[in-house]
Amino acid sequence: MLSLEEARDRLLAAVRSVTETETVPLWEGLDRILAEDLHAPRAVPPADNAAMDGYALRAAEGAHEGGLALAGTATAGGPFSGTVPAGQCVRIMTGALIPAGCDAVIMQEECDVSGQGCTTRVRLMRPPRSGEHIRRAGEDVAAGACLLGAGRRLRPPDIGVLASLGLADVTVLRRPRVALLSTGSELREPGEPLAEGQIYDSNRYLLTAMLRRLDVAVTDLGICADAPDHLQAVLEGAARDHDVVIASGGVSVGEADHTRRVLDRIGRVRAYKVAMKPGKPFTFGTVGAALFLGLPGNPVSATVTFHQLALPALRYLAGERSSESPLLVAARAGAPLRKKPGRADFQRAVLLAEPDGGHRVETTGSQGSGVLSSLTRANAFIRLEAASGDVAAGDTVSVLPFDRWLM
Ligand code: AMP
Ligand code: MG
Repeated sequence: MLSLEEARDRLLAAVRSVTETETVPLWEGLDRILAEDLHAPRAVPPADNAAMDGYALRAAEGAHEGGLALAGTATAGGPFSGTVPAGQCVRIMTGALIPAGCDAVIMQEECDVSGQGCTTRVRLMRPPRSGEHIRRAGEDVAAGACLLGAGRRLRPPDIGVLASLGLADVTVLRRPRVALLSTGSELREPGEPLAEGQIYDSNRYLLTAMLRRLDVAVTDLGICADAPDHLQAVLEGAARDHDVVIASGGVSVGEADHTRRVLDRIGRVRAYKVAMKPGKPFTFGTVGAALFLGLPGNPVSATVTFHQLALPALRYLAGERSSESPLLVAARAGAPLRKKPGRADFQRAVLLAEPDGGHRVETTGSQGSGVLSSLTRANAFIRLEAASGDVAAGDTVSVLPFDRWLM
């Protein structure tokens, strides 16, 4: 049995990342993977401008007894033209270009303004400092700077930064093509009536929802009954035009669990059984050029193995490269936890902030791998290392808060 880390490493080593690119309008860049390093084609802001509403002037003249005369106005988008004459200042609004000759902006709250029109005098309540309240050209982004690296999954602020650089489109990697099926002769679609012994397929719905967040192209292959020839035909067909085929169910050792045998026949099993709970029967392999991921059928096991193993593989396959590892929170266990040494454990739990600034964590109760509703009650996993045994109330444990893939 592989440790979770070994399984993940082996899985990533078997992945060939997407390399084909496409250029999409900036609007569609969200959640896509940046194909190449992004260097700023220009500086942001492009020129020195006012950080406050007030008066632009020469700092050296600010102490003038009689104040400064008003030479004109500069607004954002409406610059003052020419050089400001000696002894004069310019009324300036936030974002307006600093007029030639000026080297400071004084907040209007710190100015005493008298007179009107050409008799206006602006007196300062304190001596100005050269450079104050000026946003320098390039202080946000220097021209040529490498802002975002290839492999970045674009976030809302990234889209804003690209827009600030004037870029109307962005070159991203093509979306991975993922085929998804459920195996099990007992499964029915929601909306259909259930006969005796049947249950609804929940895995395909849950996994499709997670795949949507991942922004991959999903082909829904529906439910495949526990018939090896049929399963073989479905897998072979899907492997031809998808990067990844994901199936849940049929990877245990029961008589109706055909997935691994079929995979052996038409491709290669590269790993089977991972020392994790839930999720031990997780299987992966290849069929032709496609990666095959076999998730256990129990819905919690399918979810945890998808989250811990399939997701890193799919993100890597999509070309995503990130040095951020998942944040773990240290929290006090609110009650004792049962744990047999041997497998890494993911217990569904609620992470709570405590008044002292610390954290407490409570499990959602029954940890059966079929108790799917435990995931809707939880906001985190208690992550117990393979070697760990029982945990006493009050012990500090590692907690993995649900991320965007599970929330
Ligand atoms: P299996 O891994 O196929 O042996 O399935 C283990 C358990 O999970 C069985 O009780 C199945 O009925 C259940 N199961 C398998 N696939 C699904 C699914 N897609 N939705 C809900 N339950 C499932
Ligand atoms: Mg089954």
